[in-house]
Amino acid sequence: MKLLPAALSRGTAALLALLLLPACSLLGDLNHYQVSDDAALGAEAYPELLAGETTINRGPDHMMVNRLTQKLVTAARELDPEIASQFDWEVRLVEQDEVVNAWCLPGGKMAVFTGILPIAEDETGLAVVMSHEIAHATLRHGTERMTRQDLLTQVIAAGAEAYSEDAETKEQAEALASDAARLLVSLPFGRDAEIEADTRGLMYMAKAGYDPRAAVGFWERMSSGSGPAPFELFSTHPSDERRIERIRAALPEAVEMFEQSQGSR
Ligand SMILES: [Zn+2]
Repeated sequence: MKLLPAALSRGTAALLALLLLPACSLLGDLNHYQVSDDAALGAEAYPELLAGETTINRGPDHMMVNRLTQKLVTAARELDPEIASQFDWEVRLVEQDEVVNAWCLPGGKMAVFTGILPIAEDETGLAVVMSHEIAHATLRHGTERMTRQDLLTQVIAAGAEAYSEDAETKEQAEALASDAARLLVSLPFGRDAEIEADTRGLMYMAKAGYDPRAAVGFWERMSSGSGPAPFELFSTHPSDERRIERIRAALPEAVEMFEQSQGSR
């Protein structure tokens, strides 16, 4: 049975996703996925998202990103072992100087774009971004969001199934599936999730030995930056002022953890 009109265009799928968001905000942090689903979904989408990208696999920036990731993941595993230790964390540095962004898929597969490095300024600045992204994964915001978007997923699946019999429509279905993967990172998380990731991220960076006070300067630089808006960091954000205010409120606890981490090395 065909449930859908002849062409569920890629634009329509994206539009549906956007329309569904406000209606779903009442569901809070409901998540009907297993932690193992997060890992599987991320692992599946990762190569799809990186296809065609140039990754940087040597040199000082590559080394910094790897070292930083390792430290932050260790901190996340110490602070949130029940989730973070179940993920197979991975990071790629993507050469795209005009993309001021970083993302982390469900299950801990990450990308950092070279365009964010000048705004990060140094390893501690980049720790602000990456700890935020890592926190999205440990807080499982991706599958939380997907739980809300199940209607959309069903629509896409029904569309793919209905048209998978001939080659042309199969191609279209594949394009839709590819878009579905992109939706994993392109749709906003919502304000509360952003604040939550900021706050948890501060603890990760502090535990890893990076001064969390750097977060204020980083977000100030982000908010004064120009250029194309990145889809994750800027897409949903709490207003910059409110974000920085909430970060300041979370700092005392994070600074305490930072000082402990300094004392213990
Ligand atoms: Zn975020």
